[in-house]
Amino acid sequence: MTRYKTLEEIELMRESALIVSRTLGIIAEKIGPGVTTLDLDKLAFEYIRDQGAEPGFLGLYDFPNTLCTSTNEEIVHGIPNNRPLEEGDIVSVDCGAIKNGFYGDHAWTFEIGEVTPEVKKLLKVTRECLTLGIEQVVVGNRLGDVGFAIQQHAEKNGYGVVRELVGHGLGREMHESPEVPNYGKRGKGTKIKEGLVIAIEPMINMGTKNVLQLSDGWTIITADKKPSGHFEHDVAVVNGKPEVLSTFKFIEEALAAKAGIVA
Ligand code: MG
Ligand code: MG
Repeated sequence: MTRYKTLEEIELMRESALIVSRTLGIIAEKIGPGVTTLDLDKLAFEYIRDQGAEPGFLGLYDFPNTLCTSTNEEIVHGIPNNRPLEEGDIVSVDCGAIKNGFYGDHAWTFEIGEVTPEVKKLLKVTRECLTLGIEQVVVGNRLGDVGFAIQQHAEKNGYGVVRELVGHGLGREMHESPEVPNYGKRGKGTKIKEGLVIAIEPMINMGTKNVLQLSDGWTIITADKKPSGHFEHDVAVVNGKPEVLSTFKFIEEALAAKAGIVA
């Protein structure tokens, strides 16, 4: 059953979404060659606790860490480890937090140093998929319209859209009804109504859409070991239109500062 949120609840959810957005902003400052994903995990844990919130993933279904960190061919649900990140890697950092009883859930795929133009394009298109999906989150549409927009854009660029993992409703639970697939048919699926809050998270593969799970029981990788991109926003339906509760602003500011670009 889908639990629609009141405006008051959506304001609380905005607070949670901003905590995870700021957390990824801090990750953006620190991430780079030589840094390990366990270093990042520790930073995220401490920052979230400092905000009077709790990590959303830690202990959820027995997940062992604060962040999911998924590198290169890893799509999602990667476990932070001690391997220093290397020039040319990409890493999806997915972060959850809970405050006032509501979850935020947010992800960005970072480039480590210089990545190839092909990988850059994959990440650009994956972000565009997220934006195009969000634009469809209007009353009168259905979730099939969201999935269709994402799938069309990804496949037009020759990429594979993961089927086994999907976005989701968000609220007092990390994963609520409805499922939000990154593929679909126009005019099909769940009706979009006022007060719906969903996490939209396209997982777009450079090659095949097919996936495998590693023996750690968590990490999902591409079946052809080609890289995969992943970006996630929390979106509420307010006045019939999408309102994005999370923001990439903190990440973008941190990355621009590191690149020496003065705003
Ligand atoms: Mg997430
Ligand atoms: Mg999610």
